[in-house]
Amino acid sequence: MERIALYPGSFDPVTNGHVDILRQALSLADRVVVAIGIHPGKQPLFSFEERAAMIRALARGGLDGDVADRIEVVSFDGLVVDLAREKGAGILLRGLRDGTDLDYEMQMAGMNGAMAGDVRTVFLPASPEVRHITATLVRQIARMGGDVSSFVPALVARELKQKLSS
Ligand code: ADP
Repeated sequence: MERIALYPGSFDPVTNGHVDILRQALSLADRVVVAIGIHPGKQPLFSFEERAAMIRALARGGLDGDVADRIEVVSFDGLVVDLAREKGAGILLRGLRDGTDLDYEMQMAGMNGAMAGDVRTVFLPASPEVRHITATLVRQIARMGGDVSSFVPALVARELKQKLSS
């Protein structure tokens, strides 16, 4: 049976930290559904389409070869567990950077588990070289004209430059 993992987040924009988790995910699952959360009332830097396009471009060559047929990118504005069931995903992936992530993620995993016992949360530890990266700080540094090239894939650094100069 095909093993499908759901990887939800904001991905505004996708960072080297997300890429690290995606790489790990591809070694665990046959297919990964990257789910971009849309929060009404929260204004993202990049639109859903822009965020999805960057992730799809990475899937075509920025990960381990062309894995575009194993990565699907969707948007969602409801419960993650509902989306997991809709997509046939039995694994709900979350990356862990530190204890702060863990405290929050344990609460979410507990509540998601109570709502949908058939969807297993799997925590993946951030690789040491990317565990300090957050998309929030990437946006802040880029807005202030800082160099984010060691935090995000090259294509994302280019998109950030373009977005913030327009
Ligand atoms: P951020 O917290 O950077 O805004 P998201 O909300 O998009 O990112 O996070 C989506 C998922 O990716 C979460 O499970 C989060 O813990 C994980 N993640 C984000 N950055 C990293 C990183 N540097 N290393 C490992 N996991 C990460």
